[in-house]
Amino acid sequence: MEGNQRFINGSPSHPRQDVEHRTEIAISQKPFAALFGCSDSRLSAEIIFDVGLGDLFVVRNAGQVIAETILGSLEYSVEVLEVPLIVILGHDSCGAIQATMASDAGTLSTSGEFIQNLVSRIKPTVDAAKLAGTNSIDEITDLHVKDTVAELVSRSKLIDSAIRSGKLAVVGATYKLALGKVTPLVTVGNVN
Ligand SMILES: [Zn+2]
Repeated sequence: MEGNQRFINGSPSHPRQDVEHRTEIAISQKPFAALFGCSDSRLSAEIIFDVGLGDLFVVRNAGQVIAETILGSLEYSVEVLEVPLIVILGHDSCGAIQATMASDAGTLSTSGEFIQNLVSRIKPTVDAAKLAGTNSIDEITDLHVKDTVAELVSRSKLIDSAIRSGKLAVVGATYKLALGKVTPLVTVGNVN
């Protein structure tokens, strides 16, 4: 969060990006967090948190949609790299959420089979939001972040047990593109 504040202020310190550090960590990595976020080109994890090489274990796909390979990557970060924190990061004006809303309205213009598959994974959140009377894209994005956290914890026994034993916390957060600001929405487990 301190790094994000430096980024918001326009005074990033670009830590741990020098040749010496690069050489030092070439032997092994010890990131302090894993991040699962949207692939959006404006959501570059290391830049928006003003961190460096070896700091974050980053997994991204469009709309941060849980899949088995994503669960495997995050389990690896917890079991092998022993990260104490996983951040799930969504953002405003997300194209994947927009595509899902368009699909729901019957106006989705993309034809890719696997784009449809991705959209269908976000659709339960859009359906639940509609039932609750919510139509705003940013509110749906926030709901999708919360649903993603819940799905991660319910599907991975390893992650659930790491949370229960106090070794891991999962934070769902949203990012505002124009402000550059990350805001936590939900926390599971203990954040020290
Ligand atoms: Zn997105």
